[in-house]
Amino acid sequence: MDKVERDFYQRSEEDQASFLQQTWCNKCQKVDLGMKDPQEYELDGVILIEGKCNVCEDTVTTELAPDDEAGWEE
Ligand SMILES: [Zn+2]
Repeated sequence: MDKVERDFYQRSEEDQASFLQQTWCNKCQKVDLGMKDPQEYELDGVILIEGKCNVCEDTVTTELAPDDEAGWEE
């Protein structure tokens, strides 16, 4: 498995804000608690953004398929 580092901060501020906000925390069992210290990487063609839950500081991972990258907005 190849893990390729990507630069989260290359994204637009809008993207950054929504990725930091739209999270799922396994520990809190809640959505959209937000994350901090984001790190973005690609693993086997899947882009992952990993950070820490704003509430419990557990690791939170957001997974996005490459095709979805441009169309995250609702
Ligand atoms: Zn949490």
